[in-house]
Amino acid sequence: MNYEKLKSEIVEIGRRLWLRKYVAANDGNISVKVGENEFLTTPTGVSKGFMNSEMILLVDADGNLLQESKYKPTSEFKMHAEVYRKRDDITAVVHAHPPFATAFALAGIPLDECYLPESALFLGAVPIAPFALPSTDEVPASISDLILRTDVILLANHGALTAGKNLTDAYFKMETLEHTAEIVWRAKTLGNANVLSEKERERLNALREKYGLTNKVMDCKGKKNL
Ligand SMILES: [Zn+2]
Repeated sequence: MNYEKLKSEIVEIGRRLWLRKYVAANDGNISVKVGENEFLTTPTGVSKGFMNSEMILLVDADGNLLQESKYKPTSEFKMHAEVYRKRDDITAVVHAHPPFATAFALAGIPLDECYLPESALFLGAVPIAPFALPSTDEVPASISDLILRTDVILLANHGALTAGKNLTDAYFKMETLEHTAEIVWRAKTLGNANVLSEKERERLNALREKYGLTNKVMDCKGKKNL
């Protein structure tokens, strides 16, 4: 298998992450599961805005190359591998540093209240994983428990991780996360951000069932007038 279509999708999502300023320089990484112990992932040391299909690597769950390449896989692949190890329903993972969401991660303020209906449906409450030194085993350990309960995690003093049933799903969660973080930021700057009431959240939960949404979300708190 050469997985050309999936490689092109990774290249396109990398370009969008970079164009939307969710990553700077060589930041960020993307992966997709293609077999029981086979994954496509992005290389280290390359801007995600300037990738081509030849740069996308086939690796096993330990990050070993399964096809020869002059590129090396991202050092953060172990974080992606942890998501796949913990969640059978996930086949794609995106990691980036979108500025508004990352600012919340830096401030230690989780996006754990429901402000917008779409965010409540697709993200739910977004927790913050404790700080872990990039590229070390601390990183997979820091998300290991949280990923059982949510598809979207802020990484303290670092960035964000989103997981999905396919590449587009994981990428769109990153977009929704950053969009939500920016709107909440702006509302708080205005002086007030109302959250959805418990009754409204119950009605939203009914919609999740009606539309058969399978994304894992943690329920948000329903505090009024922050
Ligand atoms: Zn990072």
